[in-house]
Amino acid sequence: MPEPQPIGANERPNAVGAMLAVRDPASDETIASLPMATAADASAAVDAASQALGLWRETPPAERAAVLERGAEALLRDVEALARTITLESGKPLGEARGEIRYAADYLCSAAEEARTLMDEPFDGRRAGLRAVAVREPIGVCAAVTPWNFPLAMLARKAAPALAAGCTMIAKPAEETPLSAIAFERVLTASGLPPGTFHVLAGDPGTIVSTWLADPRVRKLTFTGSTETGRLLLRQAAEQIVRCSMELGGHAAFIVLEGADLDAAVAGAMTAKFRNAGQTCICPNRFLVHHSLAPAFAARLALAASSLIVGPGLEAATQVGPLISDAAVAKVRRHVADALANGARLVCGGETRRLPNRPDRFFEPTVLVDCHPGLLCFHEETFGPVAPIAAVRGADEAVDIANASPWGLAGYVFGSSQQAETVARQLACGVAGVNEPAPSNAYAPFGGVKWSGFGREGGRWGIDEYLTVKYLAIRA
Ligand code: ADP
Repeated sequence: MPEPQPIGANERPNAVGAMLAVRDPASDETIASLPMATAADASAAVDAASQALGLWRETPPAERAAVLERGAEALLRDVEALARTITLESGKPLGEARGEIRYAADYLCSAAEEARTLMDEPFDGRRAGLRAVAVREPIGVCAAVTPWNFPLAMLARKAAPALAAGCTMIAKPAEETPLSAIAFERVLTASGLPPGTFHVLAGDPGTIVSTWLADPRVRKLTFTGSTETGRLLLRQAAEQIVRCSMELGGHAAFIVLEGADLDAAVAGAMTAKFRNAGQTCICPNRFLVHHSLAPAFAARLALAASSLIVGPGLEAATQVGPLISDAAVAKVRRHVADALANGARLVCGGETRRLPNRPDRFFEPTVLVDCHPGLLCFHEETFGPVAPIAAVRGADEAVDIANASPWGLAGYVFGSSQQAETVARQLACGVAGVNEPAPSNAYAPFGGVKWSGFGREGGRWGIDEYLTVKYLAIRA
């Protein structure tokens, strides 16, 4: 067998070693087979990113911005082919895949806007005869590790601000969904990124990422994924004192206050909960509803949830696709079984729907009532289409339950706008929707507190994660 040669800038690994099979979760068919990057490939990508850094960081921010904007246009031009790729590898419905591409394009545009604001900041250094300037510099070579649930948008929201800041980036997508990430690299390269500036490597996560984090040239890690993996990577990042942004698990509470508009709350719950079959880190995992509204809220939510069309994402009518894996189905089943064994009642769903010639991975939208904080689903992220509802006596109890979680990514409050805002301010989380089920966008800060991580993505907060401040004390 020939010895594999490490790859050059933006090259794909040689197809002589282990291969990574990419599978459609809706059919189990293998849709692609990719050579897995070796440790030598991972190192070679750092070489290329380090070499590319000098040129890219000196490229005027307006030119960097123009490349990103061309990238956004190219994504939108290619929306149908790319949406198909996202759906094939992640299972999400095509309409959601198209939305994800628009979201990714927004991150490129938002970061481009931020690049244009990068300038030195003279300030009063309180020292006679000294001119004080804060210079915002790119932090250097950045490593990104991304999840499968938004395979394009999660990468775009890391790559766009990093590149806007003048950093170079090496990225490792999830094993399940490398194809849209590689397509994204091609789009950016074709939009004018110099070779080596942004490179996606697919393969074994441990091999690639530990190689990167052991390399002193890598100065930043940006990660989206589970809290468990986040912890592991933080430990590895400690070795080279690598700056980190961590977007980890969520466990959002969805609070419905006394007197809330039920139509708005139910519509909001449908949007927030069932997108991507409940496989989003900001989707509500605990519904805390004022007892006066809980029965009606549950009945209406169940009616709407059970009318959702469950099926393969490529079929135009589908609203809820398959879960990503059998392990994901098993976890959802475990949460439902635990709830039912401990006092909860099923209002709709509760099991997979068997579709002819399809794997058993299509979980029905599920609504549970009489839930309480003793249940597994009140302690762990379900990551599936399950809405557990607990009746609460009032806002204080809802806030106490919401904040008892070690996670704190998102929260939602529905009620009169003033009271809902007051309650939202009391939530220990990084993103809160007040009568708003879809708070995130590319111009807003996204990120969590506690076990949900640290760092913010989006808008001016996003670019700050890839910049370091140098203080120049200049004596004339
Ligand atoms: P999930 O459970 O949602 O798949 P993970 O945290 O396992 O979340 O995965 C998120 C990302 O972290 C993926 O890109 C995955 O490949 C990567 N990852 C998982 N384990 C490791 C590891 N040991 N070292 C580096 N990256 C990892």
